[in-house]
Amino acid sequence: MADHIQTLEARVAQATAREDHVDALNALAREIRRTDVRRALSMAQQANTLACAPSHSYPRGQADSLLTLSTCNRLLGQNEQALAQALEALAVYQQLNDLTGQQATLSHLGALYCNLGEYPTALDFQLQFLSLAEQSGDLRNQSTAALQIGFTYSEMGRYAETFPYYDRGLTLCQACGDIQTEARILNSYCVDSTNIGEYSKALAHGRRSLQIFETIGDVYGQGVALGSIGEAQAAAGQYAEALESLLQALGVLRAAGNDLNSYEAICISYQIGLANLRRGDLDQALLHLQQTLASASAAQIKIVEYQCHERLAELFERRGDLRQALEHYRLFHAKREQVFNETSDQKLKNLEVLHRTQQAFAEAERQKQLREDDRHYFEQLAKLQREFFSTATHDLKNPLSGLSLGIDLLELHITPTDKDAFEILAGMRGGIERMIHLIADILDLAKLETGRALVIEPIMIAPLLRMLVQDHRLAADQKQLTLDLQVELGDLAIECDAAQLRRALDNLISNAIKYTPIGGRVTLIARYTPADMIIKVIDTGIGIPTHDLPHLFERFYRIHDADHLEIEGTGLGLAIVKAIVEQHGGQVWAESQLGAGSIFSLRMPLSRAHAR
Ligand code: ADP
Repeated sequence: MADHIQTLEARVAQATAREDHVDALNALAREIRRTDVRRALSMAQQANTLACAPSHSYPRGQADSLLTLSTCNRLLGQNEQALAQALEALAVYQQLNDLTGQQATLSHLGALYCNLGEYPTALDFQLQFLSLAEQSGDLRNQSTAALQIGFTYSEMGRYAETFPYYDRGLTLCQACGDIQTEARILNSYCVDSTNIGEYSKALAHGRRSLQIFETIGDVYGQGVALGSIGEAQAAAGQYAEALESLLQALGVLRAAGNDLNSYEAICISYQIGLANLRRGDLDQALLHLQQTLASASAAQIKIVEYQCHERLAELFERRGDLRQALEHYRLFHAKREQVFNETSDQKLKNLEVLHRTQQAFAEAERQKQLREDDRHYFEQLAKLQREFFSTATHDLKNPLSGLSLGIDLLELHITPTDKDAFEILAGMRGGIERMIHLIADILDLAKLETGRALVIEPIMIAPLLRMLVQDHRLAADQKQLTLDLQVELGDLAIECDAAQLRRALDNLISNAIKYTPIGGRVTLIARYTPADMIIKVIDTGIGIPTHDLPHLFERFYRIHDADHLEIEGTGLGLAIVKAIVEQHGGQVWAESQLGAGSIFSLRMPLSRAHAR
């Protein structure tokens, strides 16, 4: 065991890859959780943090650590956390379709709910455990599940359902040769048969259980089995045999390293006192009951404490020492009431825990459903969008080309002196061009937003920017604007889709020119950091109100003030810029001061490796 722990510790220390590290931490935490639960908790916590790192999540490691965290919290009595973590682990294992993980978690959840006294829910999980074990043909897990289900029914006092599950478990154990579980089932069989007064059955099963524990050398198991046999014998009135079994049980437990203050030893010692009392050996009874009382109060096992007081009261009454008898009766009632109050307090707390967990669970389900609805909605929307855009191309573009042709023909038919007619036709042509432009923008945006593949190649940035400035020079001159370019890039190349980047910058520069009054200045600045290129388009134009800034990049967004609206536009240019930049793994943002000017900045990763 110690060697095994050392090996696991070495594995943790040597692990370099994140997944190995998580697995090693989980394995170590699982191993030490019974001996050093706090350390196990911290290991599992570390594993969980590593496994959930957003850049590189490792769901299986996450689920394993959640399950270990849950078992540690159960050992520490933190039921609420234990439940939440186990339910989360189950959800992850389900997503991964990991049947083994699901079975371990379902079995653990069954035990947790059983502990909380919430038997129907416990059964629900245990039955799921059984059915998954059946599905995966795992006979060992099937027998464990059958034992757990039988045990839960026994806790509910529903013995008619208990025994068929024990029988089923026994058959399964025999089929797969799992004699350890077989012995545990036989022991439970013995205890529950005693509870319903079937002593000969109890003894037969108890003895078989003892035999198996002896065969496999499980000393602790032998102690437990001898205790159950002793109790069955005492209940059947076979006091001498009972005492022999119970004393043997104590000896065996001691040999197994169990001190006399362990829970099992205290229960057996109480049984010895009781058997002596029943057979009338009051001196021995007194001795054992007093010893048991001392150990039980030291170990704070209150139920055994009050049981001892009750028996001692009975004993002193039989001896005629009424003063002592009365004192023990008084203590018996006081302790029992305390236990009763504590149990009902605990039950109330458990109920609260269950209620909160169920609420959290229901909320998680609701969120899942909403996400599912959203996904469905967006899929429908995307489909509609695709249909609309293909209709738009054919149904809108074609007639527009027809109209344009019509205008060309009309121009041939009107007399050159008819200025009004020419003006009307020019206006119509302008309108058609704007519509063609708008349709092209909508189509481009749609293609970008549905993830059109980029044509990525290394592009020299400085020449591209110079070319762009040249393209816009005429428009700038017409408004007497100074158009500047400041590049600090040298021969820098970036990996991008040149046509798309050009399109994005084109939109920003035309906006700057459009929204800057005559005589102003538009400046393009480009520089780079080790991972990114940053381009800024700065103008001394009309600016943008602060409250409009967060919406600028939404499609069809236009600023509703007279200065902006008098300038023609579609509200699509910036949405296209954003879609292009984001497809490259970059960012775009705007800063502005109304009446003073605006700065549009664009950050693009230099290479695809830097894209985030
Ligand atoms: P549009 O075709 O209307 O220009 P955009 O999406 O390119 O569409 O821009 C959205 C809105 O943002 C514009 O209508 C305009 O009001 C505002 N805007 C964009 N660029 C600037 C700028 N450089 N200065 C002032 N306002 C701007």
